[in-house]
Amino acid sequence: MTCTDVPDAQCTCPHCQREAERVGIKTTAEKLDVEPSKYNVGQTQVETRACPKCRHYIMTAPMPDQVVDRGIVRDELLVQGRHRRGRP
Ligand SMILES: [Zn+2]
Repeated sequence: MTCTDVPDAQCTCPHCQREAERVGIKTTAEKLDVEPSKYNVGQTQVETRACPKCRHYIMTAPMPDQVVDRGIVRDELLVQGRHRRGRP
């Protein structure tokens, strides 16, 4: 499982100029990979940081590219599911 960190440029609180601390890791999405008669489920994690002083600055890492493709993969799964039931 991979974890995407908050970019260095966004690790500093703009209010306090302090380095934001990691406050959590969030599992954002599941990605399904389709292979013949086989389904693999993968999860993606992103880091969340917050300013230790004011706690008003919270930054979560951007979504990795592979999560963006999720919609396309799900469509392929739908097509395969229809074929299995013998419907168009
Ligand atoms: Zn702050």
